[in-house]
Amino acid sequence: MTQDWGKRTKLVHQGARRSQYGEVAEAIYLTQGFVYPSAEAAEARFLKAQADEFIYARYGNPTVAAFEERIAALEDTEDAFATASGMAAVSGALMAMLRAGDHVVSARALFGSCLYILEEVLPRYGVEVTFVDGTDLAQWQAALRPNTKAVFLETISNPALEVIDLKAVAALAHDAGAQVVVDNVFATPVFSRAVELGADVVIYSATKHIDGQGRALGGVICGSREFIRATVEPYMKHTGGALSPFNAWIMLNGLTTLDLRVRAQAAAAQAIAEAFEGDPRLARVLYPGLPAHPQHAIAAAQMEGFGTVLALDIKAGKEAAFRFLNALQVIVISNNLGDARSIATHPATTTHQRLPDDQKAALGITAGLIRLSVGLEDVADLIADIRAGLDMI
Ligand SMILES: *Cc1c(COP(=O)(O)O)cnc(C)c1O
Repeated sequence: MTQDWGKRTKLVHQGARRSQYGEVAEAIYLTQGFVYPSAEAAEARFLKAQADEFIYARYGNPTVAAFEERIAALEDTEDAFATASGMAAVSGALMAMLRAGDHVVSARALFGSCLYILEEVLPRYGVEVTFVDGTDLAQWQAALRPNTKAVFLETISNPALEVIDLKAVAALAHDAGAQVVVDNVFATPVFSRAVELGADVVIYSATKHIDGQGRALGGVICGSREFIRATVEPYMKHTGGALSPFNAWIMLNGLTTLDLRVRAQAAAAQAIAEAFEGDPRLARVLYPGLPAHPQHAIAAAQMEGFGTVLALDIKAGKEAAFRFLNALQVIVISNNLGDARSIATHPATTTHQRLPDDQKAALGITAGLIRLSVGLEDVADLIADIRAGLDMI
């Protein structure tokens, strides 16, 4: 399906399906079902739907298919399945591929809901999960077993921004006969080279950079045609995590500007990280684009850019972090990321609140850690806002 186009051209044109009216912008096919020209056609379609033949929107829809085709072309996978949210994509991909008796190795540093799936849900159904420090290749190697069906990781972890050596982990996993499933939200589809580095399945929360304007939930599972159509589709179409056509239309429009937005946001993140690196009120500035970042070299080798999220670790702890947050005038306090608006989050008391203290410590979630998702404002205003916030601590 991938045409020989550059990324930006694909982001604007790939997958568009024009109706008989020849509309310029993608139509929203806001329909749950489809009319068949005859009883015989209905029978034939239920037996085997051909390309662009639809049955029911829980299985597929033209607007959703356009989004799937566009993101697959961008990620360079054969196919993709769109889902109602990023978590529907993570849980759907794992539940569809795993059976009781299978084993999974996962990086420990995960988005809270991903951790819930791996720690709480999969074991209920007889899937054993071993957690490792994702940056330690020896731990990945030691954890792999003959029944390891999959490894799971976030290429850049949330919120401490550790970067995992995907190429090395994928080589170990493939040697052990395991599939490599990556949650690639922080790397973004713009900077991702996940497939080239060995990922078999690449998952995005489209809620983040793909929408990029904080409007709608969505997700997508990218992989081989065989995996998407023979493994994911049967599971998703019967369990109901389909993306709505309206949200697919929002995501299609988000993709049109994704490359420009993400590159501008990453450039601003780099400028902010450099502006505050070494500030005496901060224990650390975490951003993979800083040469001082522990995995800077890996990040530079495996991504085309360093992402749109950084973290500031305020030395003086929680109260100081709260004073910082409450002083911000441009940056909003929220928990989304990848948005056009810059967003500050205090993970220890919000997104990662439920983790016990020892786990927070292991993941680098200190009392003073602020995660900053950099938006599209003037970078000078963002720097001034952060400076004023730091002056209030
Ligand atoms: C937000 C996020 C998810 C979940 O996505 P939703 O669209 O909110 O369901 C999964 N993984 C990572 C890394 C995320 O940032």
